[in-house]
Amino acid sequence: MKFSDITGQETIIEVLKRAIRDDRCSSAYLFAGPDGVGKKMTALAFARVLNCTGRGKGSADACGECVSCRKISANNHPDVRIIGVAEDKKEISIEQIRDLERDVSYKPLEALKKVYIIEDANALNMAAANCLLKTLEEPPLNVVLILIASNIHGILATIRSRCQIFRFRTIPARAIQKFLRERCDQQEDKAEAIARLACGRLGEAVKYASSGIESVMEQVRRAMDMMNNYEGSQDYEAMFDLCVEINRDRESVAGFLDCLAMCLRHDFVKSPRKETRDRISAVLRTRDMVSRNVNPELALNGMFLELCPGKGGSL
Ligand SMILES: [Zn+2]
Repeated sequence: MKFSDITGQETIIEVLKRAIRDDRCSSAYLFAGPDGVGKKMTALAFARVLNCTGRGKGSADACGECVSCRKISANNHPDVRIIGVAEDKKEISIEQIRDLERDVSYKPLEALKKVYIIEDANALNMAAANCLLKTLEEPPLNVVLILIASNIHGILATIRSRCQIFRFRTIPARAIQKFLRERCDQQEDKAEAIARLACGRLGEAVKYASSGIESVMEQVRRAMDMMNNYEGSQDYEAMFDLCVEINRDRESVAGFLDCLAMCLRHDFVKSPRKETRDRISAVLRTRDMVSRNVNPELALNGMFLELCPGKGGSL
């Protein structure tokens, strides 16, 4: 991953490049912004350029071919470490940060700069965050720490104040569409649908492009039909069948809800009605519940019962 491979974050990349050219890099960065907009990719590209031995004089992007660049791409550079939540855990523990604290004090094995990327700084528990603060207060030379966070307000103010902050924005639909056409080989109309669905998150768009959006669109079409024709003849069995079908995993439920919200928004723009607005609120509420670990099938059932209350408004 090079800076030139990143879509939609040109302003941030320009600032980072200038710091590299002027040799004025900070020792700590906070990359904040929604998921799927390129924070981790930018962090990795930055790690690469800081350590690239093949880049030409005056160039502020990695060559992509030297040993260091290749090792970082393969995720086996001994001096570029990614710290995240362990598979069976929900938080980044103090042990992980103590380990980092020890590690930063050693000289780099191969690199020019040791780079530590904390993938989900919002998952640092209080003890771990306080421990990290010690390293941020006295950063050793040749060390760069990059914290990645989707919610900047969830990061301790004392940590924030010691980092150079970059706020990543969602990526314009046009740029996502272009990326899907040129790099993911998607047809124009499909690229447009996916770009709208992804709401500015390129990572999501790539996921939709690779997993196939057609089955989700079909489920959304059935849900829209159900909502629009429910009066008096609601077929609850079909509704619950649809819930079972969507509920393969949390991610597919989230994808379905994003897509449904998008279609409803589209309807609302064409003809703004209170009913549609209420439906959008119900879908977004359910989306929020699903992202907060509520059982997705129960959340879906509840939503459909609210959206299609049947004759008389209740069962
Ligand atoms: Zn290189």
